[in-house]
Amino acid sequence: MQARLFDSLTKTCNLCARRCVIPNGKRGFCNVRENVSGNLLTLTYGKVTACGLDPVEKKPLYHFLPGTGTVSVSSFGCNFTCLHCQNHTLSQEFRRDAVWAEPEDIVNAALQSKAQSISFTYNEPTVFYEFMYDVSRLAKSAGLKTAVITNGYMTEEAVCDISPYMDAFRIDLKAFSDSFYKTVCGGARLEPVLDAVKLVSGLKKHLELVTLIIPGMNDSKDEISSMLSWEIENLGVFVPHHFTAFTPMYEMRDRRAAGHADVDAVFRMAKDAGLYYPYVGNVMHAEGSTTYCPECGERLILRAGYVCRMPGVKDGCCAKCGRKIEGIF
Ligand code: SF4
Repeated sequence: MQARLFDSLTKTCNLCARRCVIPNGKRGFCNVRENVSGNLLTLTYGKVTACGLDPVEKKPLYHFLPGTGTVSVSSFGCNFTCLHCQNHTLSQEFRRDAVWAEPEDIVNAALQSKAQSISFTYNEPTVFYEFMYDVSRLAKSAGLKTAVITNGYMTEEAVCDISPYMDAFRIDLKAFSDSFYKTVCGGARLEPVLDAVKLVSGLKKHLELVTLIIPGMNDSKDEISSMLSWEIENLGVFVPHHFTAFTPMYEMRDRRAAGHADVDAVFRMAKDAGLYYPYVGNVMHAEGSTTYCPECGERLILRAGYVCRMPGVKDGCCAKCGRKIEGIF
């Protein structure tokens, strides 16, 4: 399958911010896009490693069709090589055992399972962009919503190209330092991620952020404070931001897990800074699992694990004061 967003004159893949120049017979950094006689081919099209029904809260997406099911779809490959990747068997291996599927198969699976959306997830969806694109187009015509769970390294061209068919972007803001992206994520950079986040926000797409808190690596007061200042200045205060607790894994098994106190400290900073929808993940945290009305403080959505109840929401608004709640309900 011919890849999108390839400049055949300069042999540059313009899908992600790495903008790999790929000579004939070679592959890009992600190892799943190959220049064959001057044509860039995607090696992941239709190659599916997972397709199953999940609660949308698992993504995590808290303001996107809360309480509904989403069909999660993945392939393999990644444009990052994160040392703490929880899906490294998908992201860092060329999976010859992936199962062939047509876009229709994914959409039919979603319709049959009564899901309201399809989520592209587990490995970085940017590197199976063409398949995501075709599935999303078909999903929209079938009345389904779509969400991409991404590291945010897509170029402006890629975000704009797919945005007509994508309802929600859940983007990892892994840290607020270039050195973290460089040393932990395989020589990546922070700025392209911030650019993509701003672009998605400007396009008025539904946006949620996730920051995995790794004690001693990305949670200093200065770094979190800078992240929150940037967020409020560029996105405002209404973007749901999930602060989740790190568990040692893959090549970072030597580091300690984040506990309740670690994520609670960041959650308090986010609240104090003025974010309306900060959340906590991977540890029990009643306040950090609840959505409150920004206007009257009413408890709108209560969550326990992936189970969610919405006693305070009526037609996407606060049932008490009538304020519209940001998101897709
Ligand atoms: S998608 Fe792959 S080939 Fe294209 S620029 Fe990114 S890492 Fe390079």
